[in-house]
Amino acid sequence: MIDYEELRRLMVETQLIPRGIKDQRVLKAMLKVPRHLFVDEPIQYKAYDDMALPIGDGQTISQPYMVAVMTELLELKGNERVLEVGTGSGYQAAILAELAAEVFSIERMERLALRARERLRKLGYDNVHIITGDGTAGLPEKAPFDRIIITAGTPQVPDPLKEQLADNGILVAPVGARFSQQLIILRKEKGKITEEYHTPCVFVPLVGKYGWKE
Ligand code: SAM
Repeated sequence: MIDYEELRRLMVETQLIPRGIKDQRVLKAMLKVPRHLFVDEPIQYKAYDDMALPIGDGQTISQPYMVAVMTELLELKGNERVLEVGTGSGYQAAILAELAAEVFSIERMERLALRARERLRKLGYDNVHIITGDGTAGLPEKAPFDRIIITAGTPQVPDPLKEQLADNGILVAPVGARFSQQLIILRKEKGKITEEYHTPCVFVPLVGKYGWKE
């Protein structure tokens, strides 16, 4: 029998804390959410390794460190409404659901969206809404969002997402070329947006009207 709780503790102690993740709420969420239940059974034993893993349809669940660093950059306090673009397995959405009030997550692949919705329901996350569609256009009917996180690589931050970011909001996204990006942090203050670059990263492409073409 694999002791998944112990693997989560090791993940936090060897991959997250030594690389500088400090937000205690983020570390607590990473210790709590059962990441192995977000991948298929044959690879569950690898769920806490220091890597991204396949989730089908050519897509991936991001490396634990990348989930932690992006979440920390969002500076969540607990009362935010968050938009995620790129639900994938639903793991990042579960971490967000632990740390914010309400999470809307958009996935363009219907099969992944269905599976993520089912997983999150079984785990009791009733503050997450999974929507199937092109997340590059955001979710205007639910905007503005206090925080936005894009979990697929994009050539630029889509304009509709900048518009749907609330004042005093933070958006985190991997921006750059098709096969290598850098995390960008956008802050909106009094309607003005400032940008800051962070960690280099590699994400599968954000495909849609305001992202990469198919
Ligand atoms: N956050 C995910 C998780 O926790 O498993 C990992 C996301 S995976 C690296 C990127 C996801 O973005 C894929 O599932 C892909 O289908 C999705 N995606 C790509 N373009 C999209 C778009 N325009 N709108 C919504 N989802 C998109």
